[in-house]
Amino acid sequence: MRKELLKRIPKVDVFVEDKELLELLGNNPRTLLVESIRNVLDRLRKDIVNGKVLELDKEKIKGQIKNELRKLVSPKLKRVINATGVVLHTNLGRAPISEKIAEHLKWIITGYSNLEYDLEKGKRGLRYKNLEWILKKLTGAEDVCVVNNNAGAVLLVLSALAKGKEVVVSRGELIEIGGSFRIPDVMVQSGAILKEVGTTNKTHLWDYENAINENTGLILKVHTSNYRVLGFTESVSTKELVELGKKYNIPVYEDLGSGSFIDVRKLGLSYEPTVQDVLKAGADVVSFSGDKLLGGAQAGIIVGKKEFIEKIKKHPLNRALRIDKMTLSVLEATLVYYLDEEKALKEIPTWNLLSQPLENIKRKAEKLYSLLDREKIKAEIKIVKDESEVGGGALPIQKLPTYAVAIKPSKISVKRLESLMREMEVPVVGRIKENVYLLDMRTVFDNEIKQLAFNLKKVLI
Ligand SMILES: *Cc1c(COP(=O)(O)O)cnc(C)c1O
Repeated sequence: MRKELLKRIPKVDVFVEDKELLELLGNNPRTLLVESIRNVLDRLRKDIVNGKVLELDKEKIKGQIKNELRKLVSPKLKRVINATGVVLHTNLGRAPISEKIAEHLKWIITGYSNLEYDLEKGKRGLRYKNLEWILKKLTGAEDVCVVNNNAGAVLLVLSALAKGKEVVVSRGELIEIGGSFRIPDVMVQSGAILKEVGTTNKTHLWDYENAINENTGLILKVHTSNYRVLGFTESVSTKELVELGKKYNIPVYEDLGSGSFIDVRKLGLSYEPTVQDVLKAGADVVSFSGDKLLGGAQAGIIVGKKEFIEKIKKHPLNRALRIDKMTLSVLEATLVYYLDEEKALKEIPTWNLLSQPLENIKRKAEKLYSLLDREKIKAEIKIVKDESEVGGGALPIQKLPTYAVAIKPSKISVKRLESLMREMEVPVVGRIKENVYLLDMRTVFDNEIKQLAFNLKKVLI
């Protein structure tokens, strides 16, 4: 019986000329169609051997090939609806970019641009010229260097300023950011020598001072942006480190992680130093990400005193880590908004999502609620008050009040609902809390609510 079925499995050729499949393939290479057919037929063979398939249905096989082909030809990077409430979600692409900036980006990259061309002089120009100008204006820094991401910035700064020398850093700040970015490992890569001081919870100024010797090249302070040590703790402020650095003529570098230009107390959150604050405290070099609280594109921004930034710029890693025109274009357009803080809060999506009035989030929740066909939907649905996170290794323990649509399905489990929503054409990532599926509306854009309702109806009716 199984042998008989195996023999009757259609050949690949039966499907390669199929009109519907060819249409679905579009302009994609034919090998993708052949691969989809093979994958489906291979699986079928196994299922027959295992006794899972007892009869052959050509139409059903074709349906499976269609699904397989669809998976192969559609881009794997998809737009996702973020209903987690985590504004800077590291796994969901961190900072979203505004439509306006995306339009600008499109205009720049679909043609040629003056990326490295001086239009006034008619000859070669500098890639970072305008970016440097804005960053200097915004932060008050003497000089600026921009690279591919902040991990790259840390590596570059350590390599350029402390290769072969000791870098003094507190044990409480030897962080891992994820994706194997760990301060001790980066230190090894850079050729600098890690000199840990203090303990996990407490580090004093004299710990730093005792560690300083003739081979000390740098004092490093790392902002513990993705965790907090609470309770019996002590760390040394930037200002004190700067004084110490001055005394021994050693530069102070602060890796701020999520650098912000805006004081987060404006959002009702507790104080986090801004880039300007750290520079004012006297840090010689400061680095931060372009796509955390800054709300721009992935980049590592290094600002500080000219004598150090010049050294950093001349290091060969700087060229290896340079940003492309897409990043440059998004970053520049984002930074311009900061020249007017009100504009930044409104126009930069990250700040807009963080600063939106609670009323606005409630309105979005009500809109979604009203679009659901509650007569037919097999679930209990409520609007509830909850808390969202800033996320993105930005403000680890700070929360913002929010509204969520809470769903308790009656025919399937909450876990199943959560995974079905993730696997749809337009995937939705929500969160589960106390066995209820929550859609936190803080991070859902207005133009996504309809789709969200569509997905829910599809899964729950
Ligand atoms: C996020 C972070 C980094 C890495 O920045 P990327 O832009 O993700 O490369 C480095 N240091 C700190 C303190 C961070 O928070």
